[in-house]
Amino acid sequence: MSPQELQDIRDAVAKLCATFPMEYWRELDRERRYPTDFVRALTEAGYLSCLIPEEYGGSGLGLSTAAAILQEVQRSGANGAACHAQMYIMGTLLRHGSPAQKAMYLPKIARGELRLQAFGVTEPTAGTDTTSIRTTAVKKGDKYIVNGQKVWTSRAEHSDLMLLLARTTPKDETTKKSEGMSVFIVDMKKALDRGLTIRPIRTMINHATTEVFFDNMEVPAENLVGEEGRGFRYILDGMNAERILIAAECIGDARWFIEKATGYANERRVFGRAIGQNQGVQFPIARAYMATEAASLMVEHAAALYESGQPCGKEANMAKQLAAEASFQAGDTCLQTHGGFGFAEEYDVERKWRETRLYQIAPISTNLVLSYIAEHVLGLPRSY
Ligand SMILES: Cc1cc2nc3c(=O)[nH]c(=O)nc-3n(C[C@H](O)[C@H](O)[C@H](O)COP(=O)(O)OP(=O)(O)OC[C@H]3O[C@@H](n4cnc5c(N)ncnc54)[C@H](O)[C@@H]3O)c2cc1C
Repeated sequence: MSPQELQDIRDAVAKLCATFPMEYWRELDRERRYPTDFVRALTEAGYLSCLIPEEYGGSGLGLSTAAAILQEVQRSGANGAACHAQMYIMGTLLRHGSPAQKAMYLPKIARGELRLQAFGVTEPTAGTDTTSIRTTAVKKGDKYIVNGQKVWTSRAEHSDLMLLLARTTPKDETTKKSEGMSVFIVDMKKALDRGLTIRPIRTMINHATTEVFFDNMEVPAENLVGEEGRGFRYILDGMNAERILIAAECIGDARWFIEKATGYANERRVFGRAIGQNQGVQFPIARAYMATEAASLMVEHAAALYESGQPCGKEANMAKQLAAEASFQAGDTCLQTHGGFGFAEEYDVERKWRETRLYQIAPISTNLVLSYIAEHVLGLPRSY
């Protein structure tokens, strides 16, 4: 795609986002409601199916385009977390799904008839330590029987399908702890009240996150993605895409904060002059700007590697960390620049500040990125 074509997509996304004013997001945030209309608009415009190949009704674009779309959403002051998962969960289905699974789900997802927005990995006793998950799927004839619990399964109430990671072989019966886990496509609408229970968790942001319980939930054997026992590897593959897309969102957030801080610093007058005239106000904004632009280069680099099929674990992790730090730095600077008004709901700064804080913790916490770089890139001893 040419730079001009990518810019045209960015402009079109920004135009769509502008039809959802900040009051829309404020109201939803206040009431912790899901942005159904916004997600529908993005779906109808084809943005959420940009990664689906054309033969299945999508636009067959690459990760850089998906990243640009999510970045513009965040830059506009909106929150793409309501629907970003479809873009990164999709990779597992695209790469490891059978032709029958792709034919069954992808065209419906592309048409907006099905939402693939829920990703069930984290459990109460296994967050960062994914291989310790306890949810099991036991094969009985042409079905798997699933028992266990997930937590922080975001958007579960607003999705038709969930990509679920469960143990198909107990950890102590495998030679490597990363083996014996499998990935399933769960039709949540069918499973609801037939072994699947969803309970919302109220959090400091409007994220539609939940805990889900499986009590002898039946999943047809044909919903197993790829080979049994190789699910952890499939999920890891998808995680690079997830990190790059979240990093792109953080860059969008950071740019929103910087624009907002700059605008306010130019406009707000204290002691008879614009506060932005004080270097104590200017410099933190300049620092945040530099951190953002540097992180943005890493995000673009990681996305380009991913798109060309090259290894990008190092770059995807660094991009996510640098971008999440830049967005929070920009967010905190923006809040500080606004003084007391930063706390007022109507300025949207406090909402975006809360929202962007998440990315130091999810989808992977900062310490775990640091330990990955220390151990796998720098060759330092494993610490856990
Ligand atoms: C709003 C929200 C939405 C989410 N959405 C989803 C979702 O849709 N699907 C999903 O599967 N998950 C989701 N998550 C879960 C998220 O990915 C986890 O919270 C995250 O991976 C961290 O796991 P944990 O919370 O269990 O933290 P823990 O693993 O308990 O870690 C707690 C703290 O200890 C630190 N720590 C742990 N071990 C080490 C170590 N060895 N060295 C140094 N520090 C360490 C961590 O960095 C962290 O700061 C979401 C979380 C939130 C808050």
